[in-house]
Amino acid sequence: MNDRGVDAVRKAVCPGSFDPVTNGHIDIISRASNLFDEVVVAIGVNKAKASARLFTAEERIEMLEKACSDFPNVTVAGFDGLLTTFCEENGIGAIVKGLRAVSDFDYELQMAQMNSSLVDVETVFIPTSPEYSFLASSLVKEVATFGGDVSRLVPPFVLERLTSRLAERAAGGGR
Ligand code: ADP
Repeated sequence: MNDRGVDAVRKAVCPGSFDPVTNGHIDIISRASNLFDEVVVAIGVNKAKASARLFTAEERIEMLEKACSDFPNVTVAGFDGLLTTFCEENGIGAIVKGLRAVSDFDYELQMAQMNSSLVDVETVFIPTSPEYSFLASSLVKEVATFGGDVSRLVPPFVLERLTSRLAERAAGGGR
């Protein structure tokens, strides 16, 4: 309830690059969807970083939409520029971040304090589920590149796209 006595919609954002979405991301998004009325998964689509990505912005958005299709209060959007501007423009009051290890904390704390100094936004940290505490998109890509089994770490349709993208790359086809 806000200070005018009206029930306010509690909106949160789960930001990231999601290159590609992993089961660790989905766990955090699902838990955020239980805490908030609406959750927007915001995918960084910064063009300057595009060459560092395995998947295009459109591909990452498409995979996340599929991964989140079971959560009725979750939507997916691309964002470019400052996350705090995205929050302001979309009436979002909370940023949800998953914390995997103490090593995530230093940077995330600094980021949270910077963001709340820019606009009126809170950062909410959700501790990772133990089974995903080692999981990061970058590691999934690295392991899959060298033929490791990542089938328990990403949804089946992501595994399929990951395998074919890596095969294209290995064959020299690029993206
Ligand atoms: P990564 O490449 O590290 O997976 P992303 O930018 O795609 O990075 O991740 C977005 C956010 O999702 C991270 O800031 C982190 O809060 C959260 N996250 C990613 N993986 C996990 C995980 N395994 N457990 C909990 N949170 C995670």
